[in-house]
Amino acid sequence: MKENNSKKDTEAKDKLISVKPKLKIKGFNKENIGIIALTKEDLQIRQRITRLLSTPFYNDLSENHKILVSKITNGYQNTLEGKELEEDQYILSEHELVEFENIHDWEVFRYLVYRYKYNMYPKLKIVDEYPPCVQIEPVSMCNFKCVFCYQSDKSFSNKSSGHMGYMELDLFKKVVDELEGNVESITLASRGEPTLHKQLGEMLDYMRGKFLAVKINSNASLLTDKLIHTILSSDIQTMAFSIDAADKELYEKLRVNGKFERTLRNVERFNEIREKEYPNSRLTTRISGVKVNEDQDVQKMVDLWAPYADIIAFTNYTPWESSYENPINDVSIPCTELWRRLFVWWDGKVNPCDYDYKSLLSKWSASKTPISEIWNSDYYKMLRTKHLNDERKELEPCKKCMSA
Ligand code: SF4
Repeated sequence: MKENNSKKDTEAKDKLISVKPKLKIKGFNKENIGIIALTKEDLQIRQRITRLLSTPFYNDLSENHKILVSKITNGYQNTLEGKELEEDQYILSEHELVEFENIHDWEVFRYLVYRYKYNMYPKLKIVDEYPPCVQIEPVSMCNFKCVFCYQSDKSFSNKSSGHMGYMELDLFKKVVDELEGNVESITLASRGEPTLHKQLGEMLDYMRGKFLAVKINSNASLLTDKLIHTILSSDIQTMAFSIDAADKELYEKLRVNGKFERTLRNVERFNEIREKEYPNSRLTTRISGVKVNEDQDVQKMVDLWAPYADIIAFTNYTPWESSYENPINDVSIPCTELWRRLFVWWDGKVNPCDYDYKSLLSKWSASKTPISEIWNSDYYKMLRTKHLNDERKELEPCKKCMSA
C-alpha cells in the first residue's frame, strides 16, 4: 500500500514538473520574461552614461573600474553600429534596464561596475578579492514546502535535522561589516523565508546606505502592513516575490501551503502602500517564478500581476528538491556560481551554492574566517579548477547538478 502511494506521488509530481531542462543557465530566458516598466533604448542608455562621464561620479572611480565601464560603453558603441559584442564587452539585459531606470545618477557607475562583475567575471573566469554577490540567509525555515524546493526534503526541513535555525544579529552585523565597501550586491534570502525572522527590520536598518543592490526574495505570504512599511522605508533595490502561476489551482499545487488569494492580497497591498506612501521609492518589484510546467504562461502572469510589478519572469528549473538523489549527469561546463556568488547561512556556514543545501561543499564558517579569505582559499580554487578541467564529476553534488 505504501509503495503504491509513493508511486502515485511520483507520478503526480512528474505530471506537475514536466519541464525539465538538461542544463540550468543562470538568468531568464527571453521567452520567460515580461517587462512591465517602460525602459529606454540602447541609444538613450548610452547617452545617459556619456553625460555622466564628465562628472565626479566617474572621475572618482578607480582605474580598474574605469576600464570595466569602458567595456560597457564600447559594448553600446558596437551595438549601435550593428557590430557584435567583443568577448569582454557587455550591455545591460532587459531586466537590468528596469533597475537602471530606477537608480540615481550618482549610482550609475557603481551599478555598471557591479553588473559587469556579476555577469562577466563568471564568463571570463575572473576572481576578485570578493564575490560580486553575497546571499545572506536570515533563516533556513520556510512556511511553504514547494514541490521543486529542498524544503520538501524532510531530512533537511525537519526541526531535528540540524539544518534549521535563525541567524543571530551579531553574526549578521559581522558579515555586513566585512562586506561594506567590498560587495555591492546582497540578497537577503537563500534556503528559507526571510520574513520569518523577527529582526528582519533591524537587519535592513543595519544595511542602510552600505550596499547598492540589496534584494529580498519572499513568498509574500507573511506580509503585514508593518512589514511592508519596514521594507519600503529601507533602501533595498529589489523586492522579488516568488510566485509561479496566475491561477489558484496551479499556484497551490506548486507552492505547497501557499494560499493564492492571500498572496494576491498581500502583493496588492504592498503595491498600494508603495504607490500611496512611498511614491519616490527606487525599488524594483519582481514577480519571479520557477518554470516547471507548460501551463505556466508569461502572458497570463503579466495579465494578472502587471499592476503590481515592474518585472515578471520565470527562472529555469533545476531539481533542487532531490539534489543528492539526481542521477550523475554529463554536464561539463564550469558552474558560474563559483565565480559569481557565495552563500552565508544562518549558522555562519559558507557554501558556494544553494543546490548543495546540506553544505557538502562547505569547509568554512563566516564567524571564524573572513569572506575574502574563503573566496580566495585553496579549497575554493580547487573547486574552480575541477570545474574548469571538466572534473566536476569528482565533486558531490556538482556531478548531479545542472547549473552552468
Ligand atoms: S552543486 Fe556544484 S555545480 Fe551545482 S550549483 Fe553548486 S557549485 Fe555549482
